[in-house]
Amino acid sequence: MPRKTTRQSLTPAREGRAARVKGTKAQGKADAKAIHGQLPQWTTAEIAEAFRRFEAANPSPRGELEHVDPFTLLVAVVLSAQATDAGVNKATPALFALADTPGKMVKLGEARVRALIKTIGLYRTKAKNLIALSSKLVAEHGGRVPHDRAALEALPGVGRKTANVVLNVAFGEPTIAVDTHIFRVGNRTGLAVGKTPLEVEAKLMQAVPERYRLHAHHWLILHGRYVCLARRPLCEKCIIADLCKWPGKTTNTPASVSSSA
Ligand code: SF4
Repeated sequence: MPRKTTRQSLTPAREGRAARVKGTKAQGKADAKAIHGQLPQWTTAEIAEAFRRFEAANPSPRGELEHVDPFTLLVAVVLSAQATDAGVNKATPALFALADTPGKMVKLGEARVRALIKTIGLYRTKAKNLIALSSKLVAEHGGRVPHDRAALEALPGVGRKTANVVLNVAFGEPTIAVDTHIFRVGNRTGLAVGKTPLEVEAKLMQAVPERYRLHAHHWLILHGRYVCLARRPLCEKCIIADLCKWPGKTTNTPASVSSSA
C-alpha cells in the first residue's frame, strides 16, 4: 500500500467540520490571554506526553518545501517568508532548473530570478537577496551552504528562523524554528508561552525532551497548519486536546492517535 504523505494524512482533519469555537469575541479574548502569558505553562510530563503522541501519529515528519540539497533548501526557505510553501513549490521547479547552485544563480541574474519568482510575495526583495546571498556563498564559502549559524545569519535575507530550518533539515541539528504556526500553538496551548518568537524558541529548547527536539519543529508546524488553525482550530481532531490550556477550545477529549506516516 503506498505511503501517505504528511499532507494527505492530515487532509481529512482540514476537511472535517471546523470546531464551533465559542464565538469570535470569546476566541479573541482567549488568544489575548494566551499572548499575554496568562495561561499555565505545561508541566514536563505534559510536554513529554504531547510529543509522545506526535511521534506515534507521525514518526518521521517532513517539511513541505521541495528541495534537493542545502542550497535549494536555503533558497526555498528564503522564498517562503510571508508566503505559503505551496506557492513556493509552484515557482521553484523552473528556478532550480536554471539555477540549482549559487554560481548558476549569480549567472542567471536578478532580473531573470525576479521574473521566475514573481508569483511569490515580496519577490523583488527576495530576488535581490537570492543574488546577494549566492554571491556571498561563492566568494566566502566555496559555493557551499555553511554549517554554521553565524555564517548563515550573515547571508542577505537570512534571519534566525531561516538559519534554524537549514540547520535542522539540511544538517540534522535539533533546532526549533519558530514561525507563525509554532508561535500561535506554543502560546495558545500553553506549551511554550512567550511574547516573541525568540522567547518561545528558548522555552521549547529548554522544555522539549532531547529525543523529540529534532522533529519538534515539524510536528508543531504541521499541528498549527492543519489542526490548530488560527481562526477555526479543529479541536475535535486534536490529539493533544486534553493537554491544551486554551480557554477557547471546544473539547477536552483527544482524538485517537493513529500512525499516519
Ligand atoms: S484543543 Fe488542539 S486544536 Fe484546539 S486549540 Fe487546543 S491545541 Fe489547538
